[in-house]
Amino acid sequence: MIPSAFEYHRPADVKSAVGVLQQYGEEARVLAGGHSLIPMMKLRMAAVEHLVDLQDITELKALTVAGDTVHLGAMVTQHELINSVALAKAAPLLREAALQIADPQVRYVGTIGGNVANGDPANDMPGLMQCLDATFTLAGPSGEREVKARDFYESAYVTACDDDEILVAITFKAPTGGYAYEKQKRKIGDYATAAAAVLITISGGKCTAASIAMTNLADTPIWSKAAGAALVGTACAEADIAAAVAAALAGISPTEDNRGPVAFKRHVAGVVIKRAIERAVSRA
Ligand SMILES: Cc1cc2nc3c(=O)[nH]c(=O)nc-3n(C[C@H](O)[C@H](O)[C@H](O)COP(=O)(O)OP(=O)(O)OC[C@H]3O[C@@H](n4cnc5c(N)ncnc54)[C@H](O)[C@@H]3O)c2cc1C
Repeated sequence: MIPSAFEYHRPADVKSAVGVLQQYGEEARVLAGGHSLIPMMKLRMAAVEHLVDLQDITELKALTVAGDTVHLGAMVTQHELINSVALAKAAPLLREAALQIADPQVRYVGTIGGNVANGDPANDMPGLMQCLDATFTLAGPSGEREVKARDFYESAYVTACDDDEILVAITFKAPTGGYAYEKQKRKIGDYATAAAAVLITISGGKCTAASIAMTNLADTPIWSKAAGAALVGTACAEADIAAAVAAALAGISPTEDNRGPVAFKRHVAGVVIKRAIERAVSRA
């Protein structure tokens, strides 16, 4: 379990980090918390000749809530997400989800940027970011560009972030209304068998907006437009929620693995989506 030899780079700003990526191309990878990348390197599933550590780049550590806009630098840790009072107030959904990631040791160093850029369908933050309709800012040789979380994921471990780009920040509008992140896992600290993020706004007894996204039920996170649409205009009664769950399940494509066969995953997905909608409605 020893990784192959690599050169270690520790730039102090984004421009220098991008410069190293540009210089070494596919041979270079950025290192954030290392909780996903280091095991892959040790198992020799990732061959990295130039490791670009982002931990000295102060600008990537900003966490701000200005008005209704939340800005998260890529190197903000999951621990910091949980402990930010401003964030807990502006986006309690994020705190609820972060508390369900791994354990405190992992959360102390695991970063929001690493979690969303990794491209692992089992990571919790990508689906959550799609639910929040977040925007990712990528920095590359020709400057910065923005990509919506809903357009970022192409297949497992393949994202819109190019080899010479770094995800520098995540921004989203603080959500209003009810929220819930519901996750089923085999044991404490595990990745999701299935999880669902839900935001619901209710006005005058009727749902006026709904956003529903899912984790680990396909090779990318899934934001289900149809599931949200099934709730809008309804009173979110039992039959309305059942219709939304059915719409969400129509968009998933789980595969059999050590978390269970497809039929089991579909069953679990139905349960977590329903629970998440019900909890979000109760808070709306
Ligand atoms: C025991 C254990 C349990 C876990 N359980 C869960 C869980 O339940 N849910 C969950 O979501 N995660 C879980 N994780 C993963 C954990 O949350 C990781 O910290 C996270 O997935 C990756 O973040 P990182 O900062 O460690 O990134 P790293 O491991 O450093 O990087 C991951 C990948 O993203 C790339 N990357 C990192 N930052 C950037 C950036 N800014 N721009 C571009 N590319 C970047 C790296 O090059 C690498 O390819 C678990 C990990 C462990 C060890």
